[in-house]
Parts: sequence; structure tokens; C-alpha cells
Amino acid sequence: MQRTTPTILIAGAGTVGLAVAALLATGRCADRLRVQVLEARPLPRWQAEEIHLRVYALSRASQQLFEHLDVWQKILAARASPYRRMHVWEGAAPFAANALDFDSADIGEPDLGHIVEDNLLRSVLAAALASLPNAQIGIGAALEAVEVGARGVTVRLANGGTLEGTALLAADGSDSAVRRLLDLPLRGVSYAQTAIVAHAASTLPHRQTAWQRFLPGGPLALLPLADGRSSIVWSLPTAEAERLLAASGTDFLASLQAASAGVLGELTSCTQRVGFPLQATHALHYCVPRVALVGDAAHTVHPLAGQGMNLGLLDAACLAAVIEDAVAAGEDAGDLKVLRRYERQRKGDNLKMQAAFDGLHRLFQLPTWAAPVRALGMRAVNGMGPVKRLLMEQALGLSAGSKNRLRWSHAESQA
Ligand SMILES: Cc1cc2nc3c(=O)[nH]c(=O)nc-3n(C[C@H](O)[C@H](O)[C@H](O)COP(=O)(O)OP(=O)(O)OC[C@H]3O[C@@H](n4cnc5c(N)ncnc54)[C@H](O)[C@@H]3O)c2cc1C
Repeated sequence: MQRTTPTILIAGAGTVGLAVAALLATGRCADRLRVQVLEARPLPRWQAEEIHLRVYALSRASQQLFEHLDVWQKILAARASPYRRMHVWEGAAPFAANALDFDSADIGEPDLGHIVEDNLLRSVLAAALASLPNAQIGIGAALEAVEVGARGVTVRLANGGTLEGTALLAADGSDSAVRRLLDLPLRGVSYAQTAIVAHAASTLPHRQTAWQRFLPGGPLALLPLADGRSSIVWSLPTAEAERLLAASGTDFLASLQAASAGVLGELTSCTQRVGFPLQATHALHYCVPRVALVGDAAHTVHPLAGQGMNLGLLDAACLAAVIEDAVAAGEDAGDLKVLRRYERQRKGDNLKMQAAFDGLHRLFQLPTWAAPVRALGMRAVNGMGPVKRLLMEQALGLSAGSKNRLRWSHAESQA
């Protein structure tokens, strides 16, 4: 039995790190643990005047996490854009017979998810944490060294400070410092692609639809924003992406217009562009004694299905539940056998999803001779109600597997 109040250290105040922190600090063991978040950079502020360039297509499962934390209404009140349809096609004609069309009405859901800004998610979570007596966020606290001991973990910060905890949760992103410092092996591939992200205005409305065209160089997604514009995520071979990132606004818009096949009419303006190199990585192990990797620190996926953050939030929910169960049972929360329960529950699902997105990426990278086969496949899926339903439930994070893993401590404490 542990006698002192355990401190859970969390490296990284991205959405995943803040979500684990909020779950632990408000959960059923909130009076029996403390949470300390360490973040290297200032937290971005949400601005009502301009939609942030980093937006996520959040699934229903992610929405449920935010509802559970009592911040979803705040997110909706600030700005969130529901998408009710997904339309996927290859080739020059967006509405050809082989285009895939998913409608939330077909599965009796009001929408398929929401497009939400990164800085909004982080602002509402940080504000929720600020009001809690058992949680702290240290800003400007870049973690520089980690020492794992038999009874605890010590971290050293760039600002000279040191902190001790029972466990360290690494939510410090795809280039995780914790993973590097502890020499935790990572498998991965670079897609040799870069995603260009920007917001574009168009003459036709987006119709609350997430549009995605598969092009030979990579997919172009157009996600509906609350102000009528669309967020573009355009994956391209890196050299081509670099050329387009450096192109003039007019030249870029002309290329984007051709790539979008006029599905939104004419694209009339575009914001600044930002590039993200794309890779798929997976840590061989999610945990060692006293340390667990979560979110992008554990795995990254191709953005073609818009699921990286959603997977990270499922990790966050699972890890928080595992730690709470351990604390409730008087176990040492940093014990490897405790942290392995999280790895056992999440790694298989994450590997499956990563393989599925990777497979989809490869399928659409096959040369032109494969296009008729893909067209046949897409046409077949479009005609199969149950298969479409399954795909939509998977994208919503409501498949049977995900549901079983969304085990809120809140629900348990009320049982
Ligand atoms: C182009 C693109 C589009 C995407 N679209 C979607 C989408 O539509 N839906 C979706 O679900 N996912 C999407 N994703 C995936 C999503 O962006 C990531 O999965 C998600 O941001 C990971 O969140 P995180 O909190 O794990 O990591 P991050 O957001 O990277 O946060 C890590 C935090 O750790 C901090 N940090 C780093 N090092 C240290 C240190 N040494 N000490 C302290 N702090 C540190 C960083 O400053 C940062 O705040 C997309 C990704 C890309 C590239």
C-alpha cells in the first residue's frame, strides 16, 4: 500500500496530455492523486476572430470524452463545425458512380463528427485544470532528463527544476523527448509525403460534408469549417509539396482548384499554408517501469482518415482508467504490471488502425492500372449498406471494440 499521495507527471500539454490530466484530476480517485503537467512551450490561445490552422475531425468517441469532462458545451459554444456527410472519390468526376458517400442519417446519427480547433481544445482543457486543487500545469518546463528509480521517477527540466512522481506519462508528441531519453525503440516509415494545411474559401457551400479526393500523389481532404470555408489537408510527395508551399498565392490556388475538381465550385482565396511531413510510427513497447507513452508519442498514422488525435484520446481514456483502478486498489500506479494493462488494451487496436490506414494509402498509391479495380471496390462498398454502416461506426469510434474500451471511471463510480 502506498502511503503518500502519488503524483502523476505528464510530459506535454497537447490535447492528449491535457485530457489524461483532466481525467485523472476529476476522476473517482481525484482525492488520492496529484497531477503535474510539464509543457515546453506557451499554450496557444483560442481566438474568436480567426479559425486556427490546426483543426481535427473529432469522432463521436472523442466527443464523449469531452462531454464526460464537462467541456463539450464550451467547445460547441465557442466554435465547432459538425460534418454530416463524407464523400470520397478518385478521378476527375466527384459524383461518378464509384464515389463513396457516407451520410450520418443512414445510421441514425445527427452527424459523423465535428471539426474543432487544436487551440480551442487545449484552452478549454487547460481552463478546466486551472480550477482544480490537485492539478498544475508548468509552462516553459521542457523535460530534459528522466531517471527511473525503484520507487519513483525523477525528471529534470531545462529551467533547472527537478520533479518527482510515481509515474511519468509521455504525451510529448511524435518526437517524444521521453521516448528518446529512455531509448525506447520505435518502428516506422516515412511516407515521403508532406501534408499542406490551409483554409480556403469557395463559391459553393461545403454542405457540412468532409470531401476527400484520392490523387496519384496523395489525398486531398476538404473539411467544413464553421464560417463556410474549408480546411484543406493535401498530402503530396515532399518535393511537390515544397514547391507548392513556396508558390505564390495565385499559383497555389490554381493548383488546388484543379486538385479539388471543382467540387466546391471556384476556390476564391486561401490563408497561409503550413506543411507537415508524414510518417507512420509505432513504439515497440508503450511502457517501461514508471513510464507510459500515450498519443503521438506512442504512435502516428497517415492523416488520410483523420484519426490520429482520436486514437490518442482513446489511449488517454484507457490509461486514466487503468491508473485510477490501480490507485483505488492501493496498487503502485507506476508499477510495470499496472501500466502494461493499458498497453494490452490499446496497442492491438492502434496497430490494427495503423495497418488499415497504411493499407488504404498503399492501395491509392498503386499505379493507374489499379484504378478500375479500386473503382469496382468503391462501387461495391457504396452498394453495401451493412459494410458502409460498419465503416461509419468505425470512423465514429463507436465500433464494438472501441465501446468496450471506453470505460469511464465516472460511469463505474455511479454503478
Ligand atoms: C496534417 C495533419 C492532419 C491531422 N488531422 C487529424 C484529424 O482530422 N483528426 C485526428 O484525430 N487527428 C489528426 N491528426 C493527428 C493529430 O494531429 C495528432 O495525432 C495529435 O496532434 C497528437 O496529439 P498529442 O497531444 O499526442 O501530441 P502533440 O499535439 O504533438 O502535443 C505534444 C506536446 O508536448 C510538448 N512537448 C514536446 N516535447 C516536450 C518536452 N521535452 N517537454 C515538455 N513538453 C514537450 C509539445 O510542445 C506539445 O505541446 C492530423 C495530423 C496531421 C499531421
